[in-house]
Amino acid sequence: MEAKYVYGFNEGNKDMKSLLGGKGANLAEMTKIGLPVPPGFTISTSACNDYYDNSELIRDEIIKEIENYLKSLEENLNKKLGCSKNPLLLSVRSGAVFSMPGMMDTILNLGLNDSSVLALANATQNERFAYDSYRRFIQMFSDVAMGIPKYKFENVLDDAKESKGYKIDTDLNSEDLKEIVTKYKAIYKKEIKQDFPQEPKDQLMLAIEAVFKSWNNPRAAVYRKLNDIPHNLGTAVNIQSMVFGNMGESSGTGVAFTRNPSTGENKLFGEFLINAQGEDVVAGIRTPQDISSLKNVMPKAYDEFVKITSILENHYKDMQDIEFTIEREQLYILQTRNGKRTTTAAINIAVDLVNDNIIDEKEAIMRIEPKQLDQLLHPSFESKALKNATVIAKGLPASPGAGSGKVYFNAQDVVEAKGRGEEAILVRLETSPEDIEGMVCAQGILTARGGMTSHAAVVARGMGKCCVAGCSQIKVDEYNKEIRSDDFVIKEGEYISLDGSSGCVYIGSVKKTDVALTGSFEKLMNWVDKYKDIIVRSNADNPRDAAMAIKFGAQGIGLCRTEHMFFDEDRIPAVREMILSNTLEQRLVALEKLLPMQREDFVAMFKVMDGKPVNIRLLDPPLHEFLPHDDESINHLAKVMGLQVSEIKRRIIDLDEFNPMLGHRGCRLAITFPEIYEMQAKAIIQGAIEASKEGIKVTPEIMIPLVGEVKELKVIKDMIKETVDNIIAAEGVNIPYTIGTMIEIPRACLSADEIAQEADFFSFGTNDLTQMTFGYSRDDAGKFLGEYVNKELLEKDPFEVLDQKGVGKLVKMGVQLGRSSKPNIKLGICGEHGGEPSSIEFFYNLGLNYVSCSPFRVPIARLAAAQAFIKNPR
Ligand code: ADP
Ligand code: MG
Ligand code: MG
Repeated sequence: MEAKYVYGFNEGNKDMKSLLGGKGANLAEMTKIGLPVPPGFTISTSACNDYYDNSELIRDEIIKEIENYLKSLEENLNKKLGCSKNPLLLSVRSGAVFSMPGMMDTILNLGLNDSSVLALANATQNERFAYDSYRRFIQMFSDVAMGIPKYKFENVLDDAKESKGYKIDTDLNSEDLKEIVTKYKAIYKKEIKQDFPQEPKDQLMLAIEAVFKSWNNPRAAVYRKLNDIPHNLGTAVNIQSMVFGNMGESSGTGVAFTRNPSTGENKLFGEFLINAQGEDVVAGIRTPQDISSLKNVMPKAYDEFVKITSILENHYKDMQDIEFTIEREQLYILQTRNGKRTTTAAINIAVDLVNDNIIDEKEAIMRIEPKQLDQLLHPSFESKALKNATVIAKGLPASPGAGSGKVYFNAQDVVEAKGRGEEAILVRLETSPEDIEGMVCAQGILTARGGMTSHAAVVARGMGKCCVAGCSQIKVDEYNKEIRSDDFVIKEGEYISLDGSSGCVYIGSVKKTDVALTGSFEKLMNWVDKYKDIIVRSNADNPRDAAMAIKFGAQGIGLCRTEHMFFDEDRIPAVREMILSNTLEQRLVALEKLLPMQREDFVAMFKVMDGKPVNIRLLDPPLHEFLPHDDESINHLAKVMGLQVSEIKRRIIDLDEFNPMLGHRGCRLAITFPEIYEMQAKAIIQGAIEASKEGIKVTPEIMIPLVGEVKELKVIKDMIKETVDNIIAAEGVNIPYTIGTMIEIPRACLSADEIAQEADFFSFGTNDLTQMTFGYSRDDAGKFLGEYVNKELLEKDPFEVLDQKGVGKLVKMGVQLGRSSKPNIKLGICGEHGGEPSSIEFFYNLGLNYVSCSPFRVPIARLAAAQAFIKNPR
């Protein structure tokens, strides 16, 4: 069989999108199910690709095929292109596989020329209509196919209206329109240096070629790049016979959604215009009427439209976005597609469709984009307010949500501002654990440095607080308390607003909308839990976050970072005392002060978690992070500890490291100061005993960070085990506990078989593992990773989306080696990737037991986990 490049609307169906484009496939489908679609044909994407394969020429063979289809269309309608009695008019509509901005706009009324316009006037007995169509065609063809700026034509139209004192374009009469047509043709001639093409076949071929060309215009190419759409798909061209919404008061055109796209309410939502054509509705030429009033204007067409909308919805099993035209009371459907919608609408619609037995639960789950849930879980700015707001800078969208307030440049000032009842934004070069309280009190956090896993980003996500990090376009002057850029200065106390979902920083206070978790959300999440087959835990450092995690459906704590408990105002002195101790005796005294405080923390944590597993990581950061940096605090500390200021300063300098993230931290601290972990282990187990005495079931998991060599783990584990077992024996109780390790150093993955022999569980710490596998400091990578992604050296920021090819391979090796020596070892992940959908799918497929993420990402993780199962059930 010869290659086929053209398909009649009666030859295709909705599954032929890659050949016919989205628009063409749906026009064919609607034709197939008997809806009133004006007949026509689709020139396929393979013709477009052929055009590019043949040095941008449409081959004769394809032209022939087009002509044949045109001929049968003419016969079918008993009209002829360019005929001076009964002219056929066409629309030329581009249609790629994925709808894309930048593709060529539609040309309507093709086939009109100086003689067929007369024939049209004659045949319809409507001269005004004929010239209105002609002037539209000249403008669209000139603009869309020939690239003559639209405003040149619009100026003429506006002048005409103004000189006659008309308000709207329907006031123009046929004489006005004739004049306009003459002027339009003159513009064309001036711009193109040729007469406006009078031969309809020339018009048609020029229009088709323009559509092919638009596939490669820069805007479309950029869009494809951004959205991972391959460049070799090509676009289809739809050639369709015209129907006319501009034939007077009994004609019109409109667009409608079968349900409300912002709320999901099951009620037609849309607009129409009487006596109008094409894009008049969206172009805002006149104010359209609500679709419901079509009922009064044209009851018959309205009833039919309502009937068709429900046919289409049932057929496509989803909310539809429909374009229609009414020609002298007769309804035609010109387009249908699945409608775009907000997250709220997406969930409500999916749940309603299940309730109506149109789709099943699994399909409903698959229809919600997990990342979209963010929109629901965090406050956001009102879209109207946002449109009018001024963006002053853009950083990384580090933690979603919206926040506005007065800017303050240190944590203490934020805390005080909150005390005065103000809304505050914490602005820092970068945050450190000392800023925690300020972060808690702030409406949002803005930092000039740091990436997606910087301190600010990780902690803010954990708190569910909005954060824009690594905003390098601004200078943060903490000393003079102001934000500067080339063109503005914002001083302490002035308002800004942060959008943590886009990374945008706005001047002033932008209005917000509230979080609303609807009944449908709960219902959907119940289905999600039915299908997901990997446990979702949460990272939480305190009872408040733990309670939030449970509210969002977490099944345990995957990471409780004990160091955050050290920063409380009443604890930090004892912590500093411990760090600055010169002798073991001094250190033990300080640790003895910390023990009861830590114990209380764990009791509270166990109570909130009420039997669910709690994984507690022993002290991890380098010690100098806990020391004071400003003179005032140093003086204070000296007084409390009875030491010389100079002595403290000397110790601070001693503890300073060139490369703290690769320095004296994690389990290395316990190799040199075992008493620190010993105290923490005691606090955990004593806390567990206390909670269990109150009737609470406890399952502590003690986690040792930064292990790279099995002997490190063994020494520390033996020490902890002895401590814990002694306490348990002395109390005569039974507390089931486990001891395991983080796997976050490449060497740990490589030697996971050995490490597994000493560990009850592994928790992959993919933040550090990514940092060390790439050799990118996560606090500095923000400076260059953006460029890496822009230049396509990396597909995604690997701190955000797990790098499956490299880091993922190490995780896989860790899983396989670990299980090879201990088949039932418990495996989880607690890096930021535990809340990222594509990474979750990867972890599920590796067979991990759980993922753990910040509380606000728990619903996203649950949904992503259910989708991973549905895609690949086991
Ligand atoms: P877009 O992809 O921008 O929506 P379309 O190809 O759907 O472009 O065309 C835009 C509008 O042009 C349609 O909504 C419809 O109003 C009008 N239109 C397109 N084809 C025809 C036709 N054959 N008859 C009447 N109007 C048409
Ligand atoms: Mg358009
Ligand atoms: Mg359309």
